[in-house]
Amino acid sequence: MAGRAARVFGAVRAESAILEPGLPCPFAMIRYDLHCHSTYSDGLLPPAEVVRLAAAGGVDVLALTDHDETAGLPEARAAAQDAGIALVNGAELSVTWEGETIHVVALRIDPSNATLSAGLAQVRSGRDARARRIADSLAAAGIPDAFEGAAVYVTSKALISRTHFARFLAETGHARDARDAFKRFLTPGKPGYVAHAWASLPDALSWIRTAGGSAVIAHPGRYKITAADMRRLLAEFRDGGGAAIEVLSSSHTPAQNEEFTTLARVFGLKGSCGSDYHGPGESWMAFGDLPPLPAGTTPVWSDW
Ligand code: AMP
Ligand code: MN
Ligand code: MN
Ligand code: MN
Repeated sequence: MAGRAARVFGAVRAESAILEPGLPCPFAMIRYDLHCHSTYSDGLLPPAEVVRLAAAGGVDVLALTDHDETAGLPEARAAAQDAGIALVNGAELSVTWEGETIHVVALRIDPSNATLSAGLAQVRSGRDARARRIADSLAAAGIPDAFEGAAVYVTSKALISRTHFARFLAETGHARDARDAFKRFLTPGKPGYVAHAWASLPDALSWIRTAGGSAVIAHPGRYKITAADMRRLLAEFRDGGGAAIEVLSSSHTPAQNEEFTTLARVFGLKGSCGSDYHGPGESWMAFGDLPPLPAGTTPVWSDW
């Protein structure tokens, strides 16, 4: 793992240094990964497996952030205790902002908070009807029975996502793999994409605040919005109580990592980092491969 991380990021890793056994490591650094998924949303592995893999990859502090769902956290917490790593209670909230889908990672939430639970349940409840509309749209494009096909890959009742459609489309030969399925079918402008109203940004921020958590704009480099709109989004997010930007994400280019590091500073937001791990073969990055947060960024965990 150390070898791969060093290859990918050129990072100097504590493990690769030649040190006297038993002495404190001068380069020791706590490694945070604050964004990943399990079978409670669209990940491929159950929470305990996700945690074990993260620990094996050298992650010290992991947030499980299933889409609109916190039900995997107890299993993840037990596994984290066994593996000797810290688990952060998280979720990734689906938000609609000016017609765009934006993801907001919630960290250190109280999952038993009634306001948050009700909000997440409301967001999840829209997914079935949306999936039916996705299936109708695919049927119109000549691909029948996609709802039933996607349902085969669903691992948590009431949480059907585009990812499950992507797996169905890949498995049935309509796409090379899940990523290709998104490109051909499941993104705006393509057959199989339908608009959907998720939570509003003020609602999501208020649920997270009420549950004692910090809100993070997830993978900002993924949003197809203008630079001016991004600035408005960040200003609204900050003014609504948002805490941080995910400046390092597996779906960012190095240039985007830099761009959002700068924007975090400009907007007075902290920085977060996450692999957005979904499972073997479906992720851009393995656990442990995130580089350190760039200098000049206040980590979202600075006051934890
Ligand atoms: P949903 O919440 O149902 O709209 O599904 C969103 C999920 O689809 C994201 O969390 C990703 O896991 C996945 N996804 C979105 N866009 C892509 C893409 N271009 N390639 C692969 N996976 C994607
Ligand atoms: Mn996902
Ligand atoms: Mn996301
Ligand atoms: Mn995610």
